[in-house]
Order: sequence, then structure tokens, then C-alpha cells
Amino acid sequence: MSDTIFGKIIRKEIPADIVYEDDLALAFKDINPQAPTHILLIPKKPISAIDAATDEDRDLLGHLLLTVKKVAAEAGLKNGYRVVINNGNDGGQTVYHLHLHILGDRPLKWPPG
Ligand code: 5GP
Repeated sequence: MSDTIFGKIIRKEIPADIVYEDDLALAFKDINPQAPTHILLIPKKPISAIDAATDEDRDLLGHLLLTVKKVAAEAGLKNGYRVVINNGNDGGQTVYHLHLHILGDRPLKWPPG
């Protein structure tokens, strides 16, 4: 897959407000937050979208979901939060490096727009 802005953030070539990092994943604040807390959690492996993930990524995807809990707890999201993966054009995906949005610190409406 071709490089993205998130690849540059992983390699620390451009700054980001990083809130969590381990061998497999990185979380940082969204530059255009849609809620008082809006964090992006990404795999360091360059997977372009959830559609591009394969069976080989099973453990990594599980790790990401379990890491959501850690990141949300560290962000103090005691009242709940939403996890979103946008996929492709109709899903509203704009950056083609898989990312999980973690949104919280306000009540979120359902269904999303
Ligand atoms: P998508 O629309 O692909 O699901 O989400 C991409 C997200 O990345 C958007 O919420 C957007 O604000 C965020 N974003 C895009 N470029 C940057 C950047 O350079 N730094 C940070 N921190 N977030 C970014």
C-alpha cells in the first residue's frame, strides 16, 4: 500500500499528540476532533482499510480492540465512548491506513449521519 500521513506519524516524521504506543499500535489525538475526546488508534502495520485485512491480521485486530479499552481508560472515558472504523468512500474513509476512531466525553447520537 502507498504511504499515508499516518505512516509519517508512525515514523515520527511529522508531529502528533501521541497518547499510547506499543510494538504494534499507536494512538494519537485527531487533528480535527468530532468530540471533546477524539483519538485515532492505528496499527503500525500498513493495512489500508479494514477491507484489506486478512486472516494473518487476526491477532493484530484483536490487539487493537483490546487496546481501545486501555486508551479509553487512560483518557478517562468512564461514561462510555464510541469506536468507529470508516471503510471506503461510502464509509467516509479519507486516510487509507486502517484506524479506529475513539470518541467520547459527550453523548453521541445514533444513527450517525
Ligand atoms: P477517516 O475519515 O479516514 O475515517 O479519518 C481520518 C481522520 O484522520 C480524520 O478524523 C482526520 O481529522 C484525521 N487526520 C487527518 N490528517 C491528520 C493528521 O495529520 N494528524 C492527525 N492527528 N489527524 C489527522
